[in-house]
Amino acid sequence: MALEKTLVLLKPCTVQRALCGEVINRFEKKGLRIAGMKMMQLDEAILREHYAHLVDRPFFPTLRDSMMATPVVALALEGVDAIEVVRQMAGPTNGRKALPGTIRGDYSVSGQQNIVHASDGPETAAAELKRFFRDEEIFEWTSPMRVAVYASDEC
Ligand code: UDP
Ligand code: MG
Repeated sequence: MALEKTLVLLKPCTVQRALCGEVINRFEKKGLRIAGMKMMQLDEAILREHYAHLVDRPFFPTLRDSMMATPVVALALEGVDAIEVVRQMAGPTNGRKALPGTIRGDYSVSGQQNIVHASDGPETAAAELKRFFRDEEIFEWTSPMRVAVYASDEC
């Protein structure tokens, strides 16, 4: 159990479908703290870095174009085991395979236009938070809900 921060991107498909509020609401209702949030237009350079593991895949050009279609909303979310919690909330990559109840399962029927990006581990979360946020854009405010969200020995 560890207090973690993780990066979420609300993809252009989410901005275009006016689902940002709904998706952010799910993270807030879960009990995650919003430590950072901003809108930004991504470019080829940041996408080649962010999706370095996928640049040689045949779908990279459509992925890149879809991620540049509109600005994205970047979120830094904090909570106990937040990296895994958010990945579970997102569900598997392909929206057609993701179960109802997950974000992708509820809002996506696509293997690419799948609503959110979420960091997949502690090293990627640290690197991705640095990629999308400056230090001063991450805020360490104390949530008054913490006493109700966690047991005293959890957090
Ligand atoms: N993606 C795609 N086709 C694929 C696999 C992935 O278009 O066959 C896209 C999809 O938008 C996915 C992103 O590439 O969210 C990053 O892929 P990754 O395997 O890291 O999946 P994720 O971590 O987003 O679940
Ligand atoms: Mg990934």
